[in-house]
Amino acid sequence: MKDLIPPPALVSQRESAAAIKRLFENNVVPSYGRFDLALSHGMGAYVWDVNGKRYLDLGSGIAVCSLGHANAEITQALVEQSRKLVHVSNLYYHGPQGLLAEQLVGNIAHGKVFFCNSGAEANEGLFKLARKFGHDEGRFEILTADNSFHGRTLAGIAATGQAKVKKGFEPMMPGFRQVPFNDLEAMREALSPATIAILIEGIQGEGGVTAATPEYLLGLRQMCDEKRLLLLMDSVQCGHFRTGRFQSYQRILEGVADGEKFQPDGISMAKSLGGGLPVGAFWVRQPYADLLGAGTHGTTFGGSPLACAVALTIMDVIRRDKLADNARELGARMKFDLERIAAKYPKVIKQARGLGFMIGIELASDIPAFAGNDKPASIQFVNLLHEAGVLTIPSGMQVIRFLPALNLKAAEADEGLQLIESVVAKISP
Ligand SMILES: *Cc1c(COP(=O)(O)O)cnc(C)c1O
Repeated sequence: MKDLIPPPALVSQRESAAAIKRLFENNVVPSYGRFDLALSHGMGAYVWDVNGKRYLDLGSGIAVCSLGHANAEITQALVEQSRKLVHVSNLYYHGPQGLLAEQLVGNIAHGKVFFCNSGAEANEGLFKLARKFGHDEGRFEILTADNSFHGRTLAGIAATGQAKVKKGFEPMMPGFRQVPFNDLEAMREALSPATIAILIEGIQGEGGVTAATPEYLLGLRQMCDEKRLLLLMDSVQCGHFRTGRFQSYQRILEGVADGEKFQPDGISMAKSLGGGLPVGAFWVRQPYADLLGAGTHGTTFGGSPLACAVALTIMDVIRRDKLADNARELGARMKFDLERIAAKYPKVIKQARGLGFMIGIELASDIPAFAGNDKPASIQFVNLLHEAGVLTIPSGMQVIRFLPALNLKAAEADEGLQLIESVVAKISP
């Protein structure tokens, strides 16, 4: 009789890194420059590759696995909710979506939430919101920042301030223009009679971990009020307590006069919200919360009971375990130590920057150890960290990002910093 279960030999053969890589080469669209790592499983802050080597994961996906890997409470939420309802369409009401919306609104301000499945989709919703808002006046243009990142859809790449994501996909969707980041005058000069909204990240992630200044945020708010524009914030990466506050602007404006009064008109979220499940959302401030009426926007999967049950569990755990404080305090300690390493090895690390668990180190230019290789310095550095057993995320050519799980422990952070310092010391001229 024929075996229904494949023999173990075949399974392990398929699990070899080379065999997995071949499956990708033969069957997966090659749109990613992947690292030469095939991962098999994880636990907490660690992941293992298929050869059994362990890595400390300081990237957590790309700021996605907010409670680390194989989190028991996420598993329990998945199992419990999947026994009741995995999915119902958005033609019906269900508890988890309502409860999650209430939590998000409660953490931001009076307004409403729309659920989707990704960051790009959340931004797409904000673009539609802005277009609807300006439609009857013929205003449609959205201004964004140089070095921003807003997703890979056609509108997302039109909004993104990086030439490399647009290349080959022209003509760009109309209605988006970029201006220098943190430059109020440039924004003011760019306004046109067609402008309807401004979209920025509180902290640019893909652009190299650059935070908006308090003056910029407050100045944009004033400009938007004067000109009747929507101020939209892409919090896909910098949001969800990563900086020590729910939203990065709340953290950036701490202690600033009138800072607590600041509110954007719309916020996009994703990444950490679902802890690894695809969950996206946008929040819209109250006067505009009913702009997208019945039939104007939708999605099949967004806000499913399963996704919302998991996101609710993550919110509960973050609150119960004070993980925002952990991100703030341990992140500050990591940044402090990275600054110490930068001071000790200035020919390798130029600067450490960021807030909470969104930290970037900028590499020095012309590191001699990287000279003979045409790969960007950031990629070469990340590869060396892989050899040392640490996962991090490159950002452009010169910056490495640390976006750990919000429940990273002090001992794990210290282990990571030691490994990072050992790599830095090794390549220091
Ligand atoms: C990742 C990211 C996006 C896109 O999110 P996807 O889930 O990949 O569509 C948008 N904006 C920012 C700031 C991001 O970091």
